[in-house]
Amino acid sequence: MVNGEQESPGKCWGFSLLNQLFMATIDIPDKICPHCGGTKWKTEYRKKPTKADPDKKLIRYRCAVKGKERLDRWAENNPDRWKYYVKRRKPEGYYKTPERREYARLKAKRESDNLEDNFVYRMILREVGMDGLKRSDIPQRHINLKRKQLLLTRQLKQLEK
Ligand SMILES: [Zn+2]
Repeated sequence: MVNGEQESPGKCWGFSLLNQLFMATIDIPDKICPHCGGTKWKTEYRKKPTKADPDKKLIRYRCAVKGKERLDRWAENNPDRWKYYVKRRKPEGYYKTPERREYARLKAKRESDNLEDNFVYRMILREVGMDGLKRSDIPQRHINLKRKQLLLTRQLKQLEK
């Protein structure tokens, strides 16, 4: 099953779009894309714990060709955002050393655990997409509100357990 293309376009779109630059492309010979006939895929893992299996992961496959096309289109339509992004981008292979990967992982975890501004900002981007949106476009009060909402959602999830 390929569900990468059927996702609602508003949600997670811009975020995942840039994210795929970091994902490795893998070749799966017996998994053929119905759109382009290719066998190159980007994979994404999400934790999806269940009671039976707390370590359960969800794997999503996205067609590498389609993703590249979407990214190119986005870069063309958002030249300023793209320039800004390329300027800030770490050189290729930067996260290949275990130390840097671990540092990035811990930083992301800390930001998520404490609902830091950076994390909340990324959650907002996930919802609204990132076309033309800059960090400075989002007022602090919006970030504070979103943080409260995320906190409530977490507390509710905790109660459901
Ligand atoms: Zn394809």
